Amino acid sequence: MHSQVVVLGGGPGGYAAAFLAADLGLEVTIVEADPRLGGTCLLRGCIPSKALLHVAKVISEAEEMADWGVDFAKPSVNIDKVRDRKNNVVATLSGGLGKLAEARKVKVINARGVFVDSKTINLESVGDDSSTVGSERLTFDHCILATGSEPAMPKFLDIGSPRVMSSNGALDLADIPESMLVVGGGYIGLEMGTVYSELGSKVTVIELGDGLLPGADRDLVKPLAKRVNERFEKVLLSHKVAGLKDIGDKVEVTVEGPEINDTLTFDRVLVSIGRWPVSKGFGLENTKVVVNERGFVETDNQQRTADPNIFAIGDVAGDPMLAHKAAYEGKIAAEVIAGEPAAFDAQAIPAVVFTDPEIAWAGLTADEAKQQGIKVKIAQYPWQASGRAIANGRTDGMTKWIVDPETDRVLGCGIVGTGAGELIAEAMLAIEMGCNVRDIAETIHPHPTLSETVAFAGEVHLGTATEVYRPKRR
Ligand code: FAD
Repeated sequence: MHSQVVVLGGGPGGYAAAFLAADLGLEVTIVEADPRLGGTCLLRGCIPSKALLHVAKVISEAEEMADWGVDFAKPSVNIDKVRDRKNNVVATLSGGLGKLAEARKVKVINARGVFVDSKTINLESVGDDSSTVGSERLTFDHCILATGSEPAMPKFLDIGSPRVMSSNGALDLADIPESMLVVGGGYIGLEMGTVYSELGSKVTVIELGDGLLPGADRDLVKPLAKRVNERFEKVLLSHKVAGLKDIGDKVEVTVEGPEINDTLTFDRVLVSIGRWPVSKGFGLENTKVVVNERGFVETDNQQRTADPNIFAIGDVAGDPMLAHKAAYEGKIAAEVIAGEPAAFDAQAIPAVVFTDPEIAWAGLTADEAKQQGIKVKIAQYPWQASGRAIANGRTDGMTKWIVDPETDRVLGCGIVGTGAGELIAEAMLAIEMGCNVRDIAETIHPHPTLSETVAFAGEVHLGTATEVYRPKRR
């Protein structure tokens, strides 16, 4: 079998690349080990987690209505129905991808691809039938490597217990445990912790660092940390999980840290300490592809690897491990293979933590500016001044711009608050278009919306914000 383009991996990077390559007139085959298209994002990541976070949001909002004089009864959760609904969302989208592939005449082969050399992949059967290993070969002119990533599970935490799960297990939603430990205070742990906490579990988070969401702007993390502390059972910062032991119906966890040096027991443990790129065990050593010490495939700005026939995109090609970055890179690879003059030249890649409140940022952060010695001005608009935030009863937010003091060009934006993930899109466009802060501040935003905070933070920079009084020195 031969295909002009083979895409190895059918996640958001892989299918975006495959579909565009087909639209550009190339003959394309996707090789995907899972029987469904969609990859981590659709099957075990972005989409199922957001479907469950929607449930969590409705539960917490209904509870908070009591302050407004509207009382709902305590929710009764039918976990089977919640799981079915989430699975249906995934099935609808995955089925849609299958139809889109068919419409574009993209061939989809359900197999595990293993490189024989720089032009050939062995198709290993997956699932029950393992007899056809190596029986079928697929050759290609170009291959786009889009094998993604998998949950990091170090050996000392991988004790083979059904009560110790990665994000895959947490999304399966087998039950609502009475108590759950989340190991790792990154975005996946906090999102899944939010889901289980709102569904009724007592959630404890243990984070090695001295703050949640290491790497994110501390000003943005503060309101989230406050709410997480209120709604979760406990958050233990600067603490380490030294070991796990399955004791039948529970897991014994050895915790070390300034507050607790003891053994705690939980019904379930979610290990969410990061993700590893999938770059081993499928013959990359038989090609010229270079994998760095962290397991990422090295690429140039056209997604070319060191092997002239092979491109790499998405999680396997480096941080940030995000679906929209994977899709963007996938489209570049497809265009380059089709002979178009494409390259990765995005000014920023947005990041969103879909907790409550949400945190979103794009472009340069205040910390990065400091580390890199870049002079910036920071303009912050507190949501306590926003009419819409007050009307919503959610003033625990802030919008901030990072601005070049010489030119007033916007370099970065950070937002914390409900819906921050939607609001950051405007900031992305502004950064991408090289906007001056005045462009944003003087764009008429609809009232009363949280989107106004994006313009109002610009007004803060210009010293003209209506609701923020800053006396000028004369
Ligand atoms: P993947 O989506 O990982 O797809 C890789 C595919 O390759 C898989 O389907 C795999 O089966 C297949 N594969 C691997 N090896 C082979 C082989 N040898 N042969 C055949 N097939 C193979 N990102 C966001 O942007 N927003 C979010 O809100 C978000 N939420 C997340 C929540 C969770 C719980 C998790 C785990 C991740 C989340 N992510 C989110 C990250 C996002 O899922 C990834 O960044 C994205 O899926 C990466 O896409 P990809 O195409 O590079 O790889």
